[in-house]
Amino acid sequence: MNPDATALDILRQLIAIPSVNPNFTQPEDLQGEHRVAAIVAGILEDLGFVIDSLPTESKHCNLVARRGPAQPRFTLTFEAHLDTVGVKGMEIAPFAAEVRGGRVWGRGASDDKGPLAALLAALGGAKLQDLEPRGIEIKVIGAIREESGNEGAELLRNTGFETDWLVVLEPTELNVIVAHKGAFWFRIDVFGSAAHGSCPDQGLNAIEGMMEVIRELKLRVAVAARRISGSDLGSPTLNIGTIQGGSSLNIVAPSCGIEVDRRTLPGEEPDELEREMRAVLEAQVERGIIRSWSLQVIKSRPPFLGSPHTPLVRALENAAGAVGHPIGEQTVSWYSDAGVLSPCSRNTVVFGPGSISEAHTSRESISIDQLSAGTAVLRRFIEELPEAFPAAGQ
Ligand SMILES: [Zn+2]
Repeated sequence: MNPDATALDILRQLIAIPSVNPNFTQPEDLQGEHRVAAIVAGILEDLGFVIDSLPTESKHCNLVARRGPAQPRFTLTFEAHLDTVGVKGMEIAPFAAEVRGGRVWGRGASDDKGPLAALLAALGGAKLQDLEPRGIEIKVIGAIREESGNEGAELLRNTGFETDWLVVLEPTELNVIVAHKGAFWFRIDVFGSAAHGSCPDQGLNAIEGMMEVIRELKLRVAVAARRISGSDLGSPTLNIGTIQGGSSLNIVAPSCGIEVDRRTLPGEEPDELEREMRAVLEAQVERGIIRSWSLQVIKSRPPFLGSPHTPLVRALENAAGAVGHPIGEQTVSWYSDAGVLSPCSRNTVVFGPGSISEAHTSRESISIDQLSAGTAVLRRFIEELPEAFPAAGQ
């Protein structure tokens, strides 16, 4: 790679390769995480990185690259996800990477190709050769399948991954995220009995049963919010994202299903939440509101609870201040791979250019100013590492 390649050049290249998460319903030619990984691996190899693992069309693994001594004294890991959400309903050309109005437009511009491009450009311009004599290793992880439930991060954790510092790259508008909520996603189906629509008393309406279940779920989250009030992370939340029910206008609905996104706070154990839901559903059967039910947990991920007072946060803030983009610390509601990977690292933050309010939208974009500022901050941060680690013998 041209070491002077800008984040803008790299980002446009990455957007042009569709990499929709394969778990979302899409034609296969839009599933290209491995193609993005190959481009990123090529750029990293040109910068002296060794590729330990590379996904292919048939091999579902993360991209893992490293540069540094065989016996590192310190490892700094950057992690970004390679997948995007789907492109259905987008109001702009998703893969054209059009540059207009000081922004780059396309699927993944902010989430997560912009932050990844900023890192690659930062590495390209940084004096990486100064890191090795200090025993510093840099790792870059391109994680697969983040959007559908952090599968790549889970795979990485299961390989025994460990690092000293971890920067999870996501669009944070260059704020340092030190904590976020957990995510507990589930599906509930309830069943009643069909009957002729003119004789509802002879059936058991599952849609009406589900209305009771939803009322109970909302009540429980309100109780939890009162119990855990005062957290920096705000309150636990519940969103009924989808609902399907009934078979025909003139038939008593025999079944109804919902998918629910529950965001959790530290102290809310998934096992306990599941038990609580089972109890809610069983109570509706005992009351005769529904006949039976099923519960499927789709994703259960813990919150990320870092600290604003770590050497990593200080180092990023110093680097940002030095290049004229002072940054602040934040906690957020949305979920990232930091929830899965923070137990593998001494210090973890979520950080990157772009805005989460752009992510998953029908007109996704990123400001070129953010992209350049993110590159400058990351480059400075990498270049200042040797100062924290004097060469052996000094
Ligand atoms: Zn993301």
